[in-house]
Amino acid sequence: MSSTLKGPSAPVTEAADDRVRETVTSVIADIRENGDDAVRRYSERFDRWSPESFRLSPEQVEEIVAGVDPQVIEDIRYVQAQVRGFAERQREAITDIEVETLPGVVLGHKNVPIGASGAYVPGGRYPLVASAHMTIITAKVAGVPRVAACTPPIRGEIPAATVAAMALAGADEIYLLGGVQAIAALALGTETIGRVDLLAGPGNAYVAEAKRQLFGTVGIDLIAGPTEILIVADETADPVTVAVDLLSQAEHGPDSPAVLVTTSADLGRQVIDLVDRLLPGMPTKDFAGPAWRDHGQVIVAADRAEAWAIADSFASEHVEVLTADPRDALTSMRNYGALFLGAGTCVSYGDKVIGTNHVLPTRGAARYTGGLWVGKYLKTVTYQEVTDPVAAAELGRVCGRAARVELFEGHARSGDLRAAHLDGTPSWL
Ligand code: NAD
Repeated sequence: MSSTLKGPSAPVTEAADDRVRETVTSVIADIRENGDDAVRRYSERFDRWSPESFRLSPEQVEEIVAGVDPQVIEDIRYVQAQVRGFAERQREAITDIEVETLPGVVLGHKNVPIGASGAYVPGGRYPLVASAHMTIITAKVAGVPRVAACTPPIRGEIPAATVAAMALAGADEIYLLGGVQAIAALALGTETIGRVDLLAGPGNAYVAEAKRQLFGTVGIDLIAGPTEILIVADETADPVTVAVDLLSQAEHGPDSPAVLVTTSADLGRQVIDLVDRLLPGMPTKDFAGPAWRDHGQVIVAADRAEAWAIADSFASEHVEVLTADPRDALTSMRNYGALFLGAGTCVSYGDKVIGTNHVLPTRGAARYTGGLWVGKYLKTVTYQEVTDPVAAAELGRVCGRAARVELFEGHARSGDLRAAHLDGTPSWL
């Protein structure tokens, strides 16, 4: 039986969700009706941002990129090469098929890129430069011809490194626009912003809710909301590493859960002490502190099997495994967005440098989806052809009978016609 050394003091409540839901519904309705006018009003209200044009011209982009520290540009190129390299290998692994299922009956599927995608790059609290690599490069590797990218200004400033990453990643359009107004403009289209077919990218609770509400009008990658970390650790783990890595994700925002599941109560206690010691010295303590206080948890499992079961039940976005044999997780767990195996890596590598995609499912969505990858930008579409008259007739007869069971006379007649060259003119003709 597990025990809890530290529980959450304020789990995310439905009441908070209701407020976000209502705001998002009304903003979307307004933008649907009033287009650019409404987009501008909300950008002014939420971001105090109302430039002449939300879209940056190529000259503006060039000027902004030229002002970015060359080391930052070099690092962006390094990381983008990792993201591109892995995405290209993943693309190669996706294959089209064409098979003959009966003599003369050919069935196939093709993977066709969508025509236009929206890349949301968050920026309310931090300039999330890395999200540009994840949403733009991945779309481009998939073959999406038009990628429109949005990011908000940060406290009235243009996030220059983010704009550079968007440009280097190959965005076709770059807008300085954030939140629900960006998501709704891309999904619905306005007088100046063309609508897209699929919206991708992480964001805060407003962004995630806007994507959820607009799903259907537009495709979405997944619900990638406030970030989460869960660490599975045994007695071999270094408590400092555990504490530092828990805080590395808690600093995303006050609504980011950080959870430790351990088979060692001693490790659990040391980690709680270390977090309390390290937190006050963190420049981001205003986010990490409330996140740890309200959503931090330390659970002691009776044994390894229980630790895996508890970890799986969270379906956490990121799962870091600091145990004697971390690769056990590959067979012992089912629900996670990304696994980080062993102390050599960490969630920050996934977020910033290593090349796997950091747009990952949150709030339990890992039960039914993985994260963003090239496959999300491809539609697997099927086709069929019947070239053998005998096969056409056989299928026609079965189709006629099957359709009449369902009382679909029109469907049945299509089948009858394909069988007619062998069976003679149908009675209804
Ligand atoms: P953001 O860009 O998602 O949100 C900023 C926007 O929110 C602003 O432009 C503003 O328009 C809007 N907004 C703010 N307050 C509002 C209000 N009261 N009403 C309506 N709109 C409002 O940036 P952020 O806030 O820094 O959040 C980024 C989020 O992305 C974090 O929660 C982080 O954890 C998450 N994230 C998730 C993943 C993932 O894969 N799940 C990856 C990276 C980041």
